[in-house]
Amino acid sequence: KFISFEGPDGAGKTSVLAAIVERLSSYYGDDLLLTREPGGRDNVVAEAIRDLVLSPDYPEMDPRTEALLYAASRREHIQKTIKPALVAGKLVISDRYVDSSIAYQGAGREIGFEAVLQVNQFAIEDFWPDKTIYLDIRPEVGLARINQYRTDEINRLDMDPLSFHQRVSAGYHRLAKMAPDRIVVIDAEQPLEQVIEDVWQVLSQELKV
Ligand code: C5P
Ligand code: MG
Repeated sequence: KFISFEGPDGAGKTSVLAAIVERLSSYYGDDLLLTREPGGRDNVVAEAIRDLVLSPDYPEMDPRTEALLYAASRREHIQKTIKPALVAGKLVISDRYVDSSIAYQGAGREIGFEAVLQVNQFAIEDFWPDKTIYLDIRPEVGLARINQYRTDEINRLDMDPLSFHQRVSAGYHRLAKMAPDRIVVIDAEQPLEQVIEDVWQVLSQELKV
């Protein structure tokens, strides 16, 4: 199965994923692949595009250039990382996938849902996750958390204003309404332990563990 994790910046995706993967590894052992977007594990092409698109060292990109790069990185990720792992019988969990593009570039950068979906359909050829866990948090709460706790690298997005993150959040909500069977909304403003429990509920049922 293929599971994606989504959420705005500061939702706690990294911490929740670490806890969930630890629990899952007692069932799956080596048959579990945790990967991420933009980029993807040992996928050098996808990771090189990640560096290009997220580095604060490059001048700001045209939003459509950005959308095309994310889609290109995703294509590489699917073909060389995700699908081979699925064929080998593994469970694949990706930290972000196509919903991020629709929310961030479609809604956040205001390219529009349809345009970003089109570009991504070319890249994904209708390859969607079996389930998507969406960690929902108000953007101002997420941003406050980032400013307080951020441990990983500072990236270009950290410089975007609250209004950008509000559009991203609205984009995610719209997606969740459009695909209610695939996208499960989790209240990520709860204490971390409770968020982990809620996610575990959904995944243990989906994966029958
Ligand atoms: O998941 P993580 O927070 O590490 O994502 C890295 C950055 O890439 C985030 O700041 C996220 O907002 C941004 N991003 C984006 N568009 C995407 C995917 C990620 O702007 N399609
Ligand atoms: Mg993050």
